[in-house]
Amino acid sequence: MTITVLTIIIAVLVLGAGLFILRAVPSVRAYFNFRGKRLVTCPETHKTTAVTVSASEAALGTFFNEPTLRLNQCSRWPERQDCGQECLQQIEADAENCLVWKIVAKWYEDKKCVFCHKPIGPLSLLDHAPALLGPDFRTTEWREILPEQLPEIFSKYQPVCWNCHVAETFRRLHPEMVVDRPVEAQRVI
Ligand SMILES: [Zn+2]
Repeated sequence: MTITVLTIIIAVLVLGAGLFILRAVPSVRAYFNFRGKRLVTCPETHKTTAVTVSASEAALGTFFNEPTLRLNQCSRWPERQDCGQECLQQIEADAENCLVWKIVAKWYEDKKCVFCHKPIGPLSLLDHAPALLGPDFRTTEWREILPEQLPEIFSKYQPVCWNCHVAETFRRLHPEMVVDRPVEAQRVI
């Protein structure tokens, strides 16, 4: 093999790797942009529905041309699995703001716990999830609520920090073990 042929092979390989990286970067970005559960308004029922886009398919589509959006989960399935998936237009229009995580984070933003009045703080995957106080005076972690019910729940429930949620749950489950001491008056010398 002459040096010229070897140079051509190396150049082709470098060019191939460069082209691959050029296509792979937006493809990986599409994967991260389209993963996660989202809330949309179902065009059929006009009600909130929780859906998930196939992020791997969107990434593959981006690699070869442009993102191919297709649902791989919907709270109305399996009954309506053969629908036209017209709600995808809402995701195409604003993929970020219909993310459940984003909607929840926005609701808790600047809110204070109804019990201890401390700010809930930004939502984090690493921290304990904050909760909600319902009209029945029970607290529930937001993750335990069906995503499609969240907008309605947010209009009726109040924010609760994780510490107060744990304390209130313990108080509800073991009322016999909780002693509510009256605040002692400070001794004045
Ligand atoms: Zn609290």
